[in-house]
Amino acid sequence: MVLAQLGGSISRAIQQMSNATIIDEKVLNECLNEITRALLQSDVQFKLVRDMQTNIKKIVNLDDLAAGHNKRKIIQQAIFNELCKMLDPGKPSFTPKKGKTSVVMFVGLQGSGKTTTCTKYAYYHQKKGWKPALVCADTFRAGAFDQLKQNATKAKIPFYGSYMESDPVKIAVEGVERFKKENCDLIIVDTSGRHKQEAALLKKCAKFLKQRYILKPDLAIFVMDSSIGQAAFDQAQAFKQSVAVGAVIVTKMDGHAKGGGALSAVAATKSPVIFIGTGEHMDEFEVFDVKPFVSRLLG
Ligand code: GDP
Repeated sequence: MVLAQLGGSISRAIQQMSNATIIDEKVLNECLNEITRALLQSDVQFKLVRDMQTNIKKIVNLDDLAAGHNKRKIIQQAIFNELCKMLDPGKPSFTPKKGKTSVVMFVGLQGSGKTTTCTKYAYYHQKKGWKPALVCADTFRAGAFDQLKQNATKAKIPFYGSYMESDPVKIAVEGVERFKKENCDLIIVDTSGRHKQEAALLKKCAKFLKQRYILKPDLAIFVMDSSIGQAAFDQAQAFKQSVAVGAVIVTKMDGHAKGGGALSAVAATKSPVIFIGTGEHMDEFEVFDVKPFVSRLLG
């Protein structure tokens, strides 16, 4: 299911349920089945969807609800809470600490907004008094280093990279070493992604990432374009298999997509979404909160 349709389908299912004259078992089941279908078509894990359905039914026990109860509201609230639970993997991601060196590696497909997001992440922390630094280990995409350099210079953030060196691992290690010596507390490593929908390349990418993992970052952040829809689960899982993804950042939330693919990414990586990108500019970056996101998803 195309991402933007997910929220719409769930809202429609809730609306139809609300419009029914009497809310009985049949109406509730129809509503839940619609939601299940929408989530499955968005590649949300079957088990998660099934658990969600079971939980809602447990909470909304129609037989026990006295006539005076507002069943519509109780069902709506239960659906909202369960969607929130899906987006909350139950364990927070590793959180870097100011003043203590952390290495954070960014992974994601080419075009997902990874390089832009690296700078946004650095800039966000710099404004809060951190000492971030950027390392460009993306030797695959021509112009990646220039882009990072330009962004870093604009934000006055130290950067490291090379036009000549083709080994991303070497650059990453050198960059991390240098910034450790300079007492930077947040060393951000931008890695190379691969082009969308190219399975063979994605496999190669996984191999590269494994090599790169000798870096042992404190946190690997998976950057996902909010408009990729159906591909979100597979893509997130592919990265999770090659690297210990600890957190997700969803980009381009300012576009048409409502961002339902984040559900899949959280399910696939079992990692929380920590920030969202809401534009091309450095400060168009927000801390992610589950509840406002679900409200937006449901429109
Ligand atoms: P990379 O190949 O993954 O490093 O992707 P880039 O960082 O080069 O970003 C690809 C394009 O997406 C660029 O044109 C960025 O300006 C744009 N972009 C990145 N994040 C956002 C965002 O949150 N919103 C919008 N509208 N565009 C973004």
